[in-house]
Amino acid sequence: MEQQQQQVVGILGGGQLGRMMVEAANRLNLKVLVLDKTGTPAFDLCANADGHVVGDFRNPDSVETLASRCSVLTVEIEHVNADALESAAKKHGVEVRPSAQVVRVIQDKYVQKCHLEKLGVPVAQYVDLTAGSEERDIVAAGFGFPVMLKCKTLAYDGRGNRVVKTERDIANSIASLGGGPSKQGPALYLEKMVPFVKEVAVMVARGANGSVASYPCVETIQKDNICHVVIAPARIDGKIQNRAREIAEQAVKGLGGVGIFGVEMFLMPNEDLLLNEIAPRPHNSGHYATEACHTSQFEQHLRCVLGLPLGSAEMKVPAAGMINILGAADMQETMAPCGRSMTVPGATVHLYGKKETRAGRKMGHITVVAETLSTLLKRMDAILGGTSLSSP
Ligand code: ATP
Ligand code: MG
Ligand code: MG
Repeated sequence: MEQQQQQVVGILGGGQLGRMMVEAANRLNLKVLVLDKTGTPAFDLCANADGHVVGDFRNPDSVETLASRCSVLTVEIEHVNADALESAAKKHGVEVRPSAQVVRVIQDKYVQKCHLEKLGVPVAQYVDLTAGSEERDIVAAGFGFPVMLKCKTLAYDGRGNRVVKTERDIANSIASLGGGPSKQGPALYLEKMVPFVKEVAVMVARGANGSVASYPCVETIQKDNICHVVIAPARIDGKIQNRAREIAEQAVKGLGGVGIFGVEMFLMPNEDLLLNEIAPRPHNSGHYATEACHTSQFEQHLRCVLGLPLGSAEMKVPAAGMINILGAADMQETMAPCGRSMTVPGATVHLYGKKETRAGRKMGHITVVAETLSTLLKRMDAILGGTSLSSP
């Protein structure tokens, strides 16, 4: 531990995930430096670290400045400049965890799918689309309608996705993502629409020595493509939960990832699981772990990155949940669930310090723990005010 306390972890990105990594680092007296613009959530918190790098995590010079001040680099967002990360790390002799190559594979969702398929991980049917002739390729794919059109890169919160309802909507859907005949737009690919019964996720931690700890399989409920509610463990058969963990571990091991990874999956009506995508960092579906598991995902990530032994990923309470505080019409409406949670036992509020709210913006989250699932759902319903989770 003493040895790790002398190391400096450089984090590309200062969003809420970076902020919560800083929180975990502060408690353990581990030194971290953040690279991002000022005013981002992690910058407010950097009590134990001078020398943050104000800059852009996609800019090679900024990444190099960070690398020159650290012993190990990591990311809190996948949309970084993987080439800059690789060359800066090489030049300054620092480790990158997860590696730039792992980030490179994951940040292009099409490349990620190809990689997962090669590993034998089950995924939805997908096909590449050629720039300029996407329309023809979509028809030729024969996936039927509706069908899911996705940007390969820079995707988050479903913003790079369009559901193409009928053949007549193809051109409009491509254009609304900025693609089309000009060949200048973002590269796109196509996925077959998956008629899932639930979405589930597993956080997988993999240490520098290859040791693996996976967290329980959780259920995720999205609102307008954004994760809104998480229930842990998922309300599904234990055998399916174990299979989800196995698939998630297989995917992360196969990638050679080091650090914590969020693995999103679809549960099909026939109980098959299909992997949707992987995040090479802490993930919304792992926030519940801070109060509900022996080791939070943020501490676990730092342990992986610094070569410390992994902590237990098991739950220390029978049931837990998480509600995202998503931007609503104004700050008052956005924060209403926090107000309601104040009198709910087992609820813990985490706010990210964002000064402005926008529709769907992640402003914070609330974790809830309980002795039974039914108590958990009642507590979560009280915080949600009006939505009922009590029936699956
Ligand atoms: P994130 O914020 O999780 O990174 P993203 O922008 O990368 O999101 P995806 O995870 O690809 O987007 O998709 C967002 C949501 O859209 C999924 O959680 C799921 O609800 C739905 N979705 C994605 N792909 C499919 C599919 N092939 N069939 C059905 N629904 C899908
Ligand atoms: Mg994504
Ligand atoms: Mg996703």
